[in-house]
Amino acid sequence: MVTASEVLLHGTPVVPGLAHGRAHVVVSEIPAEALRAYGETAPADENDALAVYDAAAAAVADGFRTRAAHADGASAGVLTASAGLATDRGLRSAVRKELRAGEPLLTAIDHAVEQFVTVFTGMGGLMAERVTDLRDIRLRILARLVGAPEPGVSLPDEPVVLIAGDLAPADTSGLDPARVLALVTERGGPTSHTAIIARQLGIPCVVGVGGIVAAAAHRHLLVDGATGTVEIDPDPAAATVRVRAAAAEREALAGWSGPGRTADGHAVSLLANIADAASAASAAAAPVAGVGLFRTELAFLDRSTEPSVAAQTDVYAAALAPFAGQGRHVVVRTLDAGSDKPIAFATHPDEENPALGVRGLRLSFTDPALLERQLDAIAAAAERTGTTTWVMAPMVATVDEARSFAASVRSRGLRAGVMVEVPSAALLADRILAEVDFLSLGTNDLTQYTMAADRMASDLAHLTDPWQPAVLHLVALTARAGTRASKSVGVCGEAAADPLLACVLVGLGATSLSMAPAAVRAVGARLEAVTLQQCREAAAAALDAADPAAAREAARTLLDAGSGPLMA
Ligand code: PEP
Ligand code: MG
Repeated sequence: MVTASEVLLHGTPVVPGLAHGRAHVVVSEIPAEALRAYGETAPADENDALAVYDAAAAAVADGFRTRAAHADGASAGVLTASAGLATDRGLRSAVRKELRAGEPLLTAIDHAVEQFVTVFTGMGGLMAERVTDLRDIRLRILARLVGAPEPGVSLPDEPVVLIAGDLAPADTSGLDPARVLALVTERGGPTSHTAIIARQLGIPCVVGVGGIVAAAAHRHLLVDGATGTVEIDPDPAAATVRVRAAAAEREALAGWSGPGRTADGHAVSLLANIADAASAASAAAAPVAGVGLFRTELAFLDRSTEPSVAAQTDVYAAALAPFAGQGRHVVVRTLDAGSDKPIAFATHPDEENPALGVRGLRLSFTDPALLERQLDAIAAAAERTGTTTWVMAPMVATVDEARSFAASVRSRGLRAGVMVEVPSAALLADRILAEVDFLSLGTNDLTQYTMAADRMASDLAHLTDPWQPAVLHLVALTARAGTRASKSVGVCGEAAADPLLACVLVGLGATSLSMAPAAVRAVGARLEAVTLQQCREAAAAALDAADPAAAREAARTLLDAGSGPLMA
């Protein structure tokens, strides 16, 4: 029950923007009454019960496949993977075992899913998102069995503020941005799956809002994605005025056409993050100077075997082609399989702690040919399209790794760089830069590894926040190394898409910012409203701040001085 003193809830701001509308809480439970009624009529015979289970699981998988057929690229891959999980043979065997032990069907499904959840949870970060998926699939199968509406996001026609405990990847993949005014979740951090998708879709988003699910039902909400606040039942007239003003500002932003620079003309290259040919094509229409991060592994989420060099070349060429000419370039990242991005043909199974295991460049330690084949394909795609192509490796931790990667890339006539995602790479940025042509700060992982907080952990949003001063100090160290070496040091993590933080990153010395194309105009307009000196002062204040909230506040005060507050 929300009282007058609780009408303003706080969370972690993810995508700026103001929205006012009716709350729509995502169904995450099946009505107890429906479950009870079904329990009394469920088939008692083990084989009958298994047949009913199979039919329900197949229907759920079909639902995912139908949605996959209407989605593109990475979203389709996520949905296809969910379809596979719904009819997973291991899960089915666990259900059968429970039935044989005499459990009724609904209990058998519950037990089987929970066994898998325990195993996945014990495996750590890699499987965190699969646990959300598994529970989502359990609910969907139960719903099919008892004849209740399938849980998940079924949106009403009128646009709503979408509220959820957390959203499964399968839910966020199918979201229609025209029907979602804003997205608010109770759990999840700024680098969670929900946050990344919301940013791609350009939907105002706040995560980690404690108590929102219980508080929001049947209420109207005013969501501020810049400050991370959610106001419950605000005065409708005042809320409408604020939303209209924000919409007018957004409209003004829509006209922003680049290039990226501060008010006093300091150039900052604004780039796009892409996942496949479809996102490349839409990114090419945005006012960007190229692509700062092509996450190649996302093009292979649904592949069980490694595509041939020729097939990979086609995939890369399709993503590179829209950026041929016009002085644009594309930074291709080699496979970052493992941990939160499991790829069937590359990920090492059964790791105790996958986030600290064999992921990214580390895959090439035991299988160097996998990297060599990918580099051959990237080089062939670069040649075929004529696109200026840079290549970088994820999860680099040592100078030696950077040196040997750069040699492989340069032997194919391409520019070589590495990502700074591990604190050791930031600390040795000078020495690593002596080996490569450029650095790109992956602030999502850099935050995870600096703060020792799993980026997928729902309850650690305050630690997985790139405004953490410790993270900003590592960014500063890396950017200073770039200035000394006169080489580019960009940021391609989610931090670059936060207009306020983008100014701080520029103040710290970042030379480029790469983000979801939907975020580019807001970042570009924000930068254009401040001077480099203001960015530097905001950066100094953020470095000195005690915590992320204080860092945001200090930066906002300094950056708003002398210019009207913009979207962030
Ligand atoms: C990062 O870690 O910041 C990054 C850009 O890589 P990813 O999010 O794909 O791990
Ligand atoms: Mg990363």
